[in-house]
Amino acid sequence: MESSPQTTLINPHELQLDLALQLLQQAGALLPEAEPYSEAWLQAVIDALCDLSSKDALTGLVNRRSFEMALSREVDRVARSGEPALLLMLDIDHFKSVNDTHGHAAGDLVIQAVARAVEQTVRPMDTVARVGGEEFAVILPNCPATFGATVAERIRERVAASVVQLPSGVSLQATVSLGGAFAPQWVRSSSLLWMERADRQLYRAKAEGRNRACLEMQVESLVSAEEKGMLFAVTQQDSE
Ligand code: GH3
Ligand code: MG
Ligand code: MG
Repeated sequence: MESSPQTTLINPHELQLDLALQLLQQAGALLPEAEPYSEAWLQAVIDALCDLSSKDALTGLVNRRSFEMALSREVDRVARSGEPALLLMLDIDHFKSVNDTHGHAAGDLVIQAVARAVEQTVRPMDTVARVGGEEFAVILPNCPATFGATVAERIRERVAASVVQLPSGVSLQATVSLGGAFAPQWVRSSSLLWMERADRQLYRAKAEGRNRACLEMQVESLVSAEEKGMLFAVTQQDSE
């Protein structure tokens, strides 16, 4: 590729990549086999950095930043296709007492075990994210309303059945509370409103005794005034 007279091409050997390479090495990412500083090699380094910045270091799940991007993509997809999509928010029950009784490292093992249990229960097309300390979210595209409760219950059971073996020999079991909400179909909602709805259900699951799933079911009747406003704004734009 030839450069135009005004364009200055970067000399790859002057790039400051030491920190980037150290980060990748520390994360156990495979460094590209292509010739160092070749175009293919730089592209592979950038791809590996993108991958690293979208993952949570403790669990390997999608991190909060990447989750928010995926959720906003799903909001657009639902509005376009009208396909039902479910968002589940999960929070480990009484997790502080795990840390207090067994230590922070044991708490980390529990977080990892919950992550694996959730991941193994859902479909490859679903996005499982760690969105906070001991909080997770799952985006389930194309999930019919009748399956929502079944999926949430399956996750709850799988987590409750997993056993975490501590190096001390002690075994621990954890439970999660889940809150779920469907994206309003054919209405342009926002990821924030969707998360608020699922969070409200999670709060209800905690209040009703934990280790349970609460889902908002009546999708059509639950379009909020804010969402109606957004729909109205889009309709107006279209008619202009
Ligand atoms: P609840 O059932 O109401 O959820 O009770 P809880 O004790 O789980 O309360 P909460 O959800 O507020 O607990 C959050 C705790 O998670 C507090 C914090 O010490 C712990 N925590 C947050 N991030 C991490 C982490 O990365 N590792 C460990 N081990 N603990 C964490
Ligand atoms: Mg919490
Ligand atoms: Mg908790």
